[in-house]
Amino acid sequence: MALHPIGVHVGPGLTEDNELEDGGPLARAAEMDADGVQVFLTDPQSYKNPKPRPDQADLLGSDVMVVVHAPYMLNVATTNNRIRVPGRKLLAAHAAGAAAIGAFGLVVHGGHVLAEDDPAIGVDNWRKTFAYQQKDGGFPLPLLIENTAGGGNAMARDLDAVDRLFDAVGEFGAGFVLDTCHAWAAGWDLSTVVDDVRARAGRIDLVHLNNSRDPHGSSRDRHAPLTEGEIPTELLVEVARAADCPVVLETPGDAASHAEEIALLRTALGG
Ligand SMILES: [Zn+2]
Repeated sequence: MALHPIGVHVGPGLTEDNELEDGGPLARAAEMDADGVQVFLTDPQSYKNPKPRPDQADLLGSDVMVVVHAPYMLNVATTNNRIRVPGRKLLAAHAAGAAAIGAFGLVVHGGHVLAEDDPAIGVDNWRKTFAYQQKDGGFPLPLLIENTAGGGNAMARDLDAVDRLFDAVGEFGAGFVLDTCHAWAAGWDLSTVVDDVRARAGRIDLVHLNNSRDPHGSSRDRHAPLTEGEIPTELLVEVARAADCPVVLETPGDAASHAEEIALLRTALGG
């Protein structure tokens, strides 16, 4: 594995018939000379349980770093039990699917509660998500909770909220994904963000290195290529260097532009 593994988000890489699309994620990694891939196991907007993947054995046997991203609307923090309870089951199903392909973690957004709700209930719902799973032997791989760009009562939008959340879930081995576009949108200082997060979550397991199309503090979540957004590229490189953990690009662009971004980062980080 590279000193600073750099992956790219490639989506499910599957057709509707659960066949590999254009060779699947490993073909994408080779095409871009990426050290890793981040995949969805299903359509990220769906509540479907993942099916066994046709490239399961290849992903397991490959030295390409694999990380799985859970569906977007999954919200285990919510006080609405018609969303929370199916969400917990879906999370468990995606964790099993992610472990089956050798992923090192399952990325899941922090989620949110409604404006009229007490955020402490959302934090406790997160704690219960881990506590209930613990009765079934725990999650088979680390859950990596990602900071989000906006939302008033979000669980991982503000640094204080991250502090409270990890006070509740840290003991279960929860990990943290730092998304630089979301951090920028939430008004975090990217020049100190790595220390700021480590002081609260205790760790950073993965960086989603994305530029932003919007100004600092905008609460908007529109990713941009590393060299094209509002965040100085140097600042992004500094975050990746300071975090000293795997990086995944969720930047817009084709394989050729991702290959350029990887080469740029690899050079800047020194291999
Ligand atoms: Zn992200």
